[in-house]
Amino acid sequence: MKALTSIVVFLVVGACATQSYREKIQDIKDSVEIIEQDDVEAYSKTITLNELRSHLYFLASDRFEGRASGSKGQKLAAQFLKSYYQREDIPAPNGDDYLQIIPSSYFGKGFASTENVYAFIEGEEHPDEVVVISAHYDHEGIDKSGRIYYGADDDASGTVALMEMAQAFKMAKEDGNGPGRSILFLHTTAEEIGLQGSRFYTENPAFPLSKTVANLNIDMIGRVDNYYMKNGGDDYIYIIGSDRLSTELHYINEAVNSTYFDLELDYRYNDEDDRNRYYYRSDHYNFARHNIPVIFYFNGEHPDYHRVTDTPDKINYELLAKRTRLIFATAWQLANQESRLLVDKI
Ligand SMILES: [Zn+2]
Repeated sequence: MKALTSIVVFLVVGACATQSYREKIQDIKDSVEIIEQDDVEAYSKTITLNELRSHLYFLASDRFEGRASGSKGQKLAAQFLKSYYQREDIPAPNGDDYLQIIPSSYFGKGFASTENVYAFIEGEEHPDEVVVISAHYDHEGIDKSGRIYYGADDDASGTVALMEMAQAFKMAKEDGNGPGRSILFLHTTAEEIGLQGSRFYTENPAFPLSKTVANLNIDMIGRVDNYYMKNGGDDYIYIIGSDRLSTELHYINEAVNSTYFDLELDYRYNDEDDRNRYYYRSDHYNFARHNIPVIFYFNGEHPDYHRVTDTPDKINYELLAKRTRLIFATAWQLANQESRLLVDKI
């Protein structure tokens, strides 16, 4: 009898806990309020297909020799990004020179020194809080027979998305609509050799990690993958990680998408048991490890993935523009909404 009583008590307590958990999730969902819609619509339109295309063709050209971490091509790409931000009058954080140098000793495996590139737009109300938008600009270099891995989708697509978003936020700031929180545009290096650039950044951050609100990481957003090629439809993006640390982030992303874009948000790779383990395979993971909420935006794998045939002519620029605008609008919300993003799942 006694044992049974305790089972009953346990069940009742369990039921209450489930109920209150559901209510809590619903409360968070209901609390999401999309702000400043006119501004978001106006500035997201400054992210244009033509500019994305022109930057991407340049970055995925012979000149950069596949941008292997530590190579001449990667360093040229770093200079290209640096001059872009200088030209756009978007500053580097902490008075640095846009390049965050990672010494070769950091790798311990004979890799050459390499550089993250970063620029930022200072927040006007909470300048110490930062939203980090990241994409790696390194790729696989040149193979033994001299063929170049152009990495147009992986990850020139994410790199040019950052460039265009930075320009849009800069225009907004010049019009007096600067972000409430700071926004860091982080072009990571050494991703292809094991997420080393983002690891280095999180160990040597420009803003303290405790003040880092979220990381929106982009790795391949210019193509349609094998699944959607076979089954039709291209108006989608895989969303990975959005609900792992912050329920609010997940619902913000959904609300932003349904307000402006209506892309299909495909969560199949967000499954904890996903055998591809994408959650652990790009730069956002180094932020998530430190309990910073992340979203990983990804188009999935296609026949040119990590092949020399990943070239700019195969990018769907309209889709790249739409996905970039979704990320821009989510970053806008995170930087401008009144309260800092809630982390509820540690
Ligand atoms: Zn990649």
